[in-house]
Amino acid sequence: MHCFCSICGSTDFEQLADFGLSPIAGDYLSSSTPRHQYPLNVVICKSCCHAELSYKLSPDLLYGPGFSYVSRSSPGLLEYFSFIVNYTKKYLTSSSDSAWLDIGSNDSSLLDLAYKSGFITYGIEPSSAYIERAASPHEIINSYADSLAFKAFRGRKFDVISVLNTLSNTLDPLDLFKKLSENLSSNGILVVSTGLLDDICSGNIDYIYHEHNHYFSVSSLSALANASNLQLVDVQFNPQKGGSVLSVFSTIGRYPLHDPGSLIASDSRGYIDSYNASLSRFRSTIQLSVLPLLTRADSFDHVCVFGASQSVTSLLLKAHIPDQFSFYVDDNPAKLFTYSPLANRIVISTTLLVSLLESGKRILCIPGAWRFVDQWYRRWNLKNHPNLEVVTFKLFELNE
Ligand SMILES: [Zn+2]
Repeated sequence: MHCFCSICGSTDFEQLADFGLSPIAGDYLSSSTPRHQYPLNVVICKSCCHAELSYKLSPDLLYGPGFSYVSRSSPGLLEYFSFIVNYTKKYLTSSSDSAWLDIGSNDSSLLDLAYKSGFITYGIEPSSAYIERAASPHEIINSYADSLAFKAFRGRKFDVISVLNTLSNTLDPLDLFKKLSENLSSNGILVVSTGLLDDICSGNIDYIYHEHNHYFSVSSLSALANASNLQLVDVQFNPQKGGSVLSVFSTIGRYPLHDPGSLIASDSRGYIDSYNASLSRFRSTIQLSVLPLLTRADSFDHVCVFGASQSVTSLLLKAHIPDQFSFYVDDNPAKLFTYSPLANRIVISTTLLVSLLESGKRILCIPGAWRFVDQWYRRWNLKNHPNLEVVTFKLFELNE
């Protein structure tokens, strides 16, 4: 159970969200096995407006055999990485021995781009995602980002350290930040991409799942910087990964401090009110668009869900969509023919879906991955297929 804020140490919390029990959202398994359910409960610190899970699961449990995330499998991610590599030029004048360290370097997609741009490249990656790329120019340590991993770099200081879409997954972000601060060169920058609490409270509800232990506000990012001898110098909104922000940290006094600008709330009560309003909007959108169609489910041969990701598990759970669908459709090869954590349904490819449609089956599709459904239609030319009906809804406007 939760005792103190992971960022500022305060013991003063309020409840932000309680989703009861849930399976681990990314736990797609090769066999149909009943999953354990764990509490999914988010609290917010009244002092620094940092939100976090009150019950955090161990990484061994979260990233077990069912975990199959590969950077390249996420639509638009390479473009985003390319944007980040260019963005660092605003702060750095590159030299031939500038070093870039990527924490959670996964399949080295980002490091490939940094290397092309002239950096000496290093990574820390706990999963086996990097093994396939063994013949790469990067020095990768196969480990969690602990003291031992940093020792392996023999005191090397880094000009850029990136933590992209993994900070909210760590158990102890303050401990990580202190290590990063020690390993950053005096002119270096720390670049962090993470979901923002402001976005969750504005509607990004499906970002809340067990793999995300932490939900940062600009205020808690500043508190995190202060507690680790760094300062927050920039916060950039970008539409990737369902609305995450890119924040930049430097050593103290190196660049002007970030001006927080207009935030959705200035205190924890403001975040809670805004979150509650979003949750009602979210549920009424689902009630109006999905549930009426599901009452006609009997007139279809199958009901399926588009997308087999953590956010989709999260969306279905929070929307209380009944589990009367028979399979998921997702083209990530690692997910094919696995079974979903929610309802234990099999994942098939779009090719297989199309062959079912061609053989005359009538199929109703719920776009769990609603952000990518238009892209999917266009790519597979599904829009006017006479045997396919797709529920349409938008949980909020995407800034694309
Ligand atoms: Zn706090």
